[in-house]
Amino acid sequence: MHIDFLTLYPDMFPGCLAYSLAGKALQLGLWSYKATDIRSYADDAYKTVDDIPFGGGAGMVMKVDVLDRALKDVYKTGPLLYMSPRGKPLTQSKVVELAHAQAITVICGRFEGVDERIFDLYPIEEVSLGDYVLSGGEPAALAMIDAVLRYVPGVLGNADSLTEESFSQGLLEYPQYTRPQTYKGLSVPDVLLSGHHQKIQDWREQQSHLLTQKRRPDLWTSYQSSQHKKG
Ligand code: SAH
Repeated sequence: MHIDFLTLYPDMFPGCLAYSLAGKALQLGLWSYKATDIRSYADDAYKTVDDIPFGGGAGMVMKVDVLDRALKDVYKTGPLLYMSPRGKPLTQSKVVELAHAQAITVICGRFEGVDERIFDLYPIEEVSLGDYVLSGGEPAALAMIDAVLRYVPGVLGNADSLTEESFSQGLLEYPQYTRPQTYKGLSVPDVLLSGHHQKIQDWREQQSHLLTQKRRPDLWTSYQSSQHKKG
């Protein structure tokens, strides 16, 4: 998989993706990336990439001509994404879908965003990390690609982690414990020490249900209707 990042801050990449699982996979060549400086496509002596918004208002807007030249050069094929609070919130199923791509191009916004006409020129999908505003698309792009890379074959040591974790079944994950068995008077649930696999699985499922009901009633409702459909 190859990832192209378009950004005003290429030094922010690969950032956290140089560490741990993604970092090892990068060294092994399981994925590659290029961070392209949008500013290198500016055409004036000042390397201008932004301008004041038509109609007035706060802040600056990234220029369409500069971004167009950058995309014309960089974008070849595959999903073309713009990180944006106006986008569809990123979900685990979207992450899995993206992981099937050979190439992904991610545009990182800055200022108040980009000139709207870029969406008329390219098949751009807007993706949001959540209902809050970041100062730039870079941390959002890094978080999204981190989630995607976990699904690239060979990146995760134990592929079973992908099927058991939060959201994979539409539920939050059950509580986990490791040694020591007792810490500051707190012990781990007896069932986990029982060695009884069925009981452990039942307990984990029950905990996962309880947690989801309590913390994410929205997820619980869609889980229930999906179980209903399965019959
Ligand atoms: N004025 C814009 C916010 C601009 S924030 C608005 O009100 O919608 C500057 C840049 O940060 C955006 O262009 C976008 O690329 C990025 N960004 C901010 N919040 C984000 C979020 N929740 N998800 C993804 N990208 C985000």
